[in-house]
Amino acid sequence: MTNEKELNNIIEAIDAQMRKDGISRRDALKMAGVSSAALMMGSTTASAATPAMASSAKGKIVIVGGGLAGVATAAKLKNTLSNPDITIIEPNPMSVSYQPGQTLVASGIWKQSDITYNTKDFMPSGVNWIQDKAIEFDPENNQVKTAGGQTISYDFLVVAAGLVLDFGGIKGLEEVGDVYSLDKTDAARAQKILGKDGLCSIYFSDGAVDTWTQMQKLVADAKSGKKVKAVFPEPHTAFKCGGAQKKMTNLVDARLNEAKARANADLSFYTNGGKLFGVPIYHDAIDAQMKARNVAVNYSHKFVEVDPSNKIAIFEKHWKEKVWDAELEIEDEVTRTQRIEAEYDFCHVIPPQKAPKEIANSPIGSGAGWVPVDKYTLQHLKYPNVFSLGDVAAVPLGKTGGSARKQYNVLVENLVATMEGKAMTAKYDGYTVCPLITSIGTVMMAEFKWNPDGPGAVAAPSFPLDPAQERWVMWLLKAYMLKPMTMYGMLSGRA
Ligand SMILES: Cc1cc2nc3c(=O)[nH]c(=O)nc-3n(C[C@H](O)[C@H](O)[C@H](O)COP(=O)(O)OP(=O)(O)OC[C@H]3O[C@@H](n4cnc5c(N)ncnc54)[C@H](O)[C@@H]3O)c2cc1C
Repeated sequence: MTNEKELNNIIEAIDAQMRKDGISRRDALKMAGVSSAALMMGSTTASAATPAMASSAKGKIVIVGGGLAGVATAAKLKNTLSNPDITIIEPNPMSVSYQPGQTLVASGIWKQSDITYNTKDFMPSGVNWIQDKAIEFDPENNQVKTAGGQTISYDFLVVAAGLVLDFGGIKGLEEVGDVYSLDKTDAARAQKILGKDGLCSIYFSDGAVDTWTQMQKLVADAKSGKKVKAVFPEPHTAFKCGGAQKKMTNLVDARLNEAKARANADLSFYTNGGKLFGVPIYHDAIDAQMKARNVAVNYSHKFVEVDPSNKIAIFEKHWKEKVWDAELEIEDEVTRTQRIEAEYDFCHVIPPQKAPKEIANSPIGSGAGWVPVDKYTLQHLKYPNVFSLGDVAAVPLGKTGGSARKQYNVLVENLVATMEGKAMTAKYDGYTVCPLITSIGTVMMAEFKWNPDGPGAVAAPSFPLDPAQERWVMWLLKAYMLKPMTMYGMLSGRA
């Protein structure tokens, strides 16, 4: 397919989405201005690189996980190799690839059907799909076993199995336990506790639908004059889409304002850390947004428990204190904790998150669970024919679709070089992006990457605009363009 055709396909998809939402493409592109142009150029550049990389390298590649990162990797490998032999092991008949839309479903902007796709419709042609779950890894013998009893051999393995929502890690939600993205059995179990009495979570698709119902109830109560409380706790572990809880806080604020009921609601945000964002300019911007919206921000609060019957969220507040050790005659630092209970009418839960146990407990996992890879090359630290990307890879800041979009290009280039017996030259730089919804109609496009000169992260804006500003044009990107760019650009290995 020529670059022009690819571009037209993407524009058609964007066009269809915008028409559906009652906005003309001419108007939207005029409003989106430089952003749409830059995005389009990004996709053209990516696809232009494909023919130049054509390789006749041979070898059987098995990809575990057919979500966003796995399918994008398979598609790009297919575009790159002249003799591709690619197998994807993925149990889910439904594609989990547009989870960012769950925030919009939860706030009544999209319907669940807007983000529901069949996995088969996005499997690249010629790729062998085994609809099963990988349960055992034997990297010494280059084999993977599936739940259905198959043993699958490989020359090269790519692990792209995403992560598991560890609701059971919060006291009071043990019955919910582990939840995989879009697994219907898991969702049904979760819905016995979540999605009612004000307790909800957008982290699984059906949960996003229930969150909208709970949000509407909160708004209706506030509108009727009732004083209501909404709490927004972040988990203490790494989690996908680090901005999700801020987005939910802002969306609830926006819906309450729209109903002229904001004065009747107390909104409280809780984080285990001491900052709202790792990059100072984004921390400062979000801090100002929270103050402007009259949201109480509570730092150093670990979300440990929830009591759904009494509607109480429980935190372990922690701080350091200097104490005098009389025996050693030195000043010591100890951690103090205090139990804090927060009553709620609406509590949006983001659970702790962990690697799937079949990976964490296998030789390709690590003590912390995530797959240990060189953060630049994405090659496994112990097994050179194993690579990993996406949420399951032990890569700092890596758990977003935006980071997977950069990672799969690096991984494919390095995997192909390894297959050809050449040195790996592609390097991931830690880029990731959080389109932080600040209201219905505005987004702060927080793009950032690892600090090349030391620890931490730095802003990495793609557009010649102040990245810490909330903008309507970025909302247009989020609401109209990122989905087609993901579903038709990234999942075909071209964006
Ligand atoms: C509410 C929400 C909002 C988000 N917002 C954004 C956003 O605004 N921007 C952004 O960039 N990102 C966002 N993300 C994050 C983004 O969706 C993920 O980072 C991205 O999907 C990661 O891709 P992945 O392929 O690693 O994992 P997934 O897309 O989750 O795919 C993993 C796949 O592996 C499969 N799998 C698991 N275990 C096995 C096994 N043992 N064998 C075989 N297959 C297995 C699963 O079935 C699944 O299909 C959001 C996520 C959520 C939940």
